Amino acid sequence: MAEEGFDVVVVGSCMTDLVSQAPRLPKAGETIHGHKFFIGFGGKGANQCVQAARLGARTTMVCKVGKDFFGDNYIQNFKNNGVSTEFVGQTDKAATGAASIIVNDAGENAIVIVAGANMMLGDKELQGAGPAMGGAKVLICQLEISPETSLQALRMAQERQVKTIFNPAPAIADLDPDFYSRSDVFCCNESEAELLTGVAVSSVEDAGRVGAELLRRGCGSVIVTLGPQGCVVLSSQDPAPRHVATAPVTALDTTGAGDSFIGALAFYMARYPTMPLEEMASRANRVAAVSVQGVGTQTSYPYRKDLPQELF
Ligand code: ATP
Repeated sequence: MAEEGFDVVVVGSCMTDLVSQAPRLPKAGETIHGHKFFIGFGGKGANQCVQAARLGARTTMVCKVGKDFFGDNYIQNFKNNGVSTEFVGQTDKAATGAASIIVNDAGENAIVIVAGANMMLGDKELQGAGPAMGGAKVLICQLEISPETSLQALRMAQERQVKTIFNPAPAIADLDPDFYSRSDVFCCNESEAELLTGVAVSSVEDAGRVGAELLRRGCGSVIVTLGPQGCVVLSSQDPAPRHVATAPVTALDTTGAGDSFIGALAFYMARYPTMPLEEMASRANRVAAVSVQGVGTQTSYPYRKDLPQELF
């Protein structure tokens, strides 16, 4: 454990993206030639952790990968990004989580995700990370691991007075209601908000309405991200929805923008605990806006040195 304790602990997923670009998506039983292949580091948990680390947060990742090439490779990726790997477990009972992605020339894709080792993260690993969690400032969870493990991590963090960010992604319709009360900040995108509340979100006003409903369910604060429109922020102390707009940029690839936003938010919550949430959201918008101007997921996430000094 870092001597001063971690700024950000992420309990979540690691996925290796195996991306093939081809003229079209193959039919069942068909083999076609593609024109490009690359391997990327993904998984919502790992993405958020890497973004927080690149901004300068002391981070640790609580996760499980396979005892395989992709698992070894992922551990090296964390090390390269300055993320502590003390709580990265390796199992020989499942493969490292993987997303096999085919993208056609029209930009459409077909994706198979195999969560693999991610689903083997459970109570034992959380107990092992408990002391480190206790000394941390912020904990983040998502839903790419077992929901029971995520909920347990949120409970453990709150019992230890650690601020929690919960990102209900990928969304599930029958979310355990305890997730709301365990979220100091509940951060979701439009489609997740829609699935959880049954209310369509196509404007800032809609986001305010669903945000109010999510707040009513027991969250401390709610942030609904809105792509190029930034986000809407509400909190139990200040329940009026506030639109936090973002400056227009030319987006090249928005994959992983939501994770960049959340990683940045965690950094600000840990380092500037008295900063108003709206200001943190505004700065997280600016970090995520840089990520959409680059290609790929983690490859597009900015480092502190690439950002204006006024963001720190
Ligand atoms: P993804 O699933 O691609 O990771 P998401 O749907 O979870 O993203 P979004 O709401 O699309 O999340 O985007 C998250 C944040 O990223 C936004 O709140 C905003 O700050 C930034 N962002 C996304 N798209 C753009 C864009 N086109 N221009 C500027 N900022 C953007």
